[in-house]
Amino acid sequence: MTSQDIILTGDRTTGSLHLGHYVGSLRNRVLLQDRCQQFLLLADAQALTDNMGNYLKVRDNVLQVALDYLAVGIDPAKSTIFIQSLVPELTELASYYLNLVTVSRLERNPTIKDEIKQRGYERDIPAGFLTYPAAQAADITAFKATIVPVGEDQIPMIEQTNEIVRRFNASVETAPILVEAKAMVPEVGARLPGIDGKAKMSKSLGNTLTLSASADEIRQAVKMMYTDPNHLRVSDPGQVEGNVVFSYLDAFHPNIELVKRLKDHYRLGGLGDTVIKQHLEECLQELLAPIRQRREEYARDPAAVLAMLKEGTARARQVAAVTLSEVKAAMGLNYY
Ligand code: ATP
Ligand code: MG
Repeated sequence: MTSQDIILTGDRTTGSLHLGHYVGSLRNRVLLQDRCQQFLLLADAQALTDNMGNYLKVRDNVLQVALDYLAVGIDPAKSTIFIQSLVPELTELASYYLNLVTVSRLERNPTIKDEIKQRGYERDIPAGFLTYPAAQAADITAFKATIVPVGEDQIPMIEQTNEIVRRFNASVETAPILVEAKAMVPEVGARLPGIDGKAKMSKSLGNTLTLSASADEIRQAVKMMYTDPNHLRVSDPGQVEGNVVFSYLDAFHPNIELVKRLKDHYRLGGLGDTVIKQHLEECLQELLAPIRQRREEYARDPAAVLAMLKEGTARARQVAAVTLSEVKAAMGLNYY
């Protein structure tokens, strides 16, 4: 990655962000904003593709996600945070991209296929949902993003975007206008398990700790966590693999050496669950207290947050408008 790289990333505005998002993307964005140009999309329009009618939820969440961004340290002076529905250039681009992709190709997109199954749509798929890969291609290409940080499940989306890019560029006589993007996938282990021990922390599984969790919620979550079910007495040797407390220590504890010593001790026997849980609780409280505090501060002045979003959106719109006009000109849609 170089300082020339342009990053496009974001979140659907359907729920509060949680520690899984923190591990999988948020903390990376805080680092990336110092290394290249970063656009952060509050994807309210995409959220509506499977939330039609849930307008209030989607709308309210724009502010909630913005608060999460600010709370973790995403800096609007370094990153452009913007509201998708307020950049109509994206919708317009997507409408042209829809002519470059077939219905059967959309139906074969593995991410979409999985999501259709999850949502139980069968054949009753909202057309906007089926075609959201074209909208996502518009989001990415409008900013000429070269890097898109995604979870593994999203790789097919980037492939589909790049297909659209190649098709568009090949369809016009001009020099290539659209830019292919690379998926940046987190290293293995960047998927945080749920506080219930299930493979993934996920809103729909109800096993999350949100970024605004209270000190008490954190304490309770750690207390309830599974460890090794066969580790009955302190003196018993315990298992570290698949032990949620250790997965979390790996994900969050700043002292890697200490975690290693705890693991060795636990494997040998003689280290109680209470002790490892104490270490975990301490580091989660330390991580989340300043995030919660900053979140509360920003939440006290929603007008200031909206003003920040307005500025980011204006900036994003300017960039998207340039790409759109290049695309239209290449298609000959520049009449006067
Ligand atoms: P839902 O239950 O609605 O699917 P969710 O809580 O699983 O919500 P998503 O909106 O699916 O969250 O997540 C968006 C992105 O956030 C994922 O593609 C991934 O990059 C990241 N992410 C979500 N959950 C985790 C997790 N547990 N660990 C690491 N990254 C995660
Ligand atoms: Mg999910």
